[in-house]
Amino acid sequence: MIIGSIENHRSREGGAMVYPVYSRRSKGLSLGINLFPDAKVCTFDCPYCEVFPFKTDISFSVGTMTETLREVIATAGPEEVRDICFSGNGEPTISPHLSAALRAAAQIRNELVPNAALVLITNGTGLLNEQTFEFLRSAAADPEPTGSMALKLWLKLDAGTPDWYAKMDRSAIPFDRLIAAIKAFAACAPFTIQTMICAINGEPPPAAEAAAWERLALELAASGHLTGFQIYGKARPSPGDYKAEPATALPEAFLLARADSLKAVLNAAAIRGPDGTPLPVEVFP
Ligand code: SF4
Repeated sequence: MIIGSIENHRSREGGAMVYPVYSRRSKGLSLGINLFPDAKVCTFDCPYCEVFPFKTDISFSVGTMTETLREVIATAGPEEVRDICFSGNGEPTISPHLSAALRAAAQIRNELVPNAALVLITNGTGLLNEQTFEFLRSAAADPEPTGSMALKLWLKLDAGTPDWYAKMDRSAIPFDRLIAAIKAFAACAPFTIQTMICAINGEPPPAAEAAAWERLALELAASGHLTGFQIYGKARPSPGDYKAEPATALPEAFLLARADSLKAVLNAAAIRGPDGTPLPVEVFP
C-alpha cells in the first residue's frame, strides 16, 4: 500500500508513502510524506513516539511518491489541501532521499496546489550535517511562494536541560551539540519551534527545566527569524505506553500556563517575527 487511508493514521506503518490526514496543527487536510515505508529510522527514541514497530519490504522511491502525491491531490480536491508535510516513520533529515523528494514535492505543490504549504517536521539532528544544514537553510530562507521551495520547518525543542532531553528524546546525540546547531540555524533561517509537554513516569517537567526551556526559547526568538511556537500534548497511544518510563498527558491548563509564561517573556522583550508581528504561541493539548 502506498496511499494511506484518511481514517487510519496508522497506514504509515503499512508502508504508505503518502498519507492524507486531517491535522490539528495544519488546520485542515495535510498530505503526509513518509520517507521510511520499510521501517522506522530515527536519531531520537521519544517515549511519546506514535510509531509502532513494523517492517515492510516497500522501498521509498521519489518516482512512486510523486505519482502517488498527484493521485491523492486529484482525489482529495486541490482546494482541500492545506499542506504537504514531510514527517512519517522517523527523522526525514537522515533519509538519503530528502532533498530529491522535497524538490519533487515543491514542484508538484507549485503546479497543483500553489496555496498549500510545504512543511518539514524535524527533530533538528540533521542540522549537525553541514550539507543538510545548508540545504535546509536555503530551502527555508527563500520566501517566494511561487516557483521555489518556500519550505516551512517545524523543529522539535522538547527540553531546555540535558536531563529532560535525556528523558524526552533519549538520543545518543549530546544535548549541547544539538542546541549549538539549532542556535546557528536560528541565526540564518526561519522555523517554528514544536515542543511536546508531557509527564514522564508520572512526573511533569520540573520548574528548573521549564525555566531553562523558556530562556532558550527566548534566545532563539531574539534572532528575529523564528515564526512561532507550537506547544502540544500527548494525544494518541504510543508503543512507549507499555514500557518503563512512559509518557503521559498533562492537563490542558499545564500547557496553557507554559504558553502564557512564554508569551509574557516574549512580550516583555518586544520580540517579533520576520514579518514584524508578535510571535504566535499555539497550544494543541
Ligand atoms: S523524533 Fe519523531 S519519529 Fe523520532 S522518536 Fe521522536 S517522535 Fe518518533
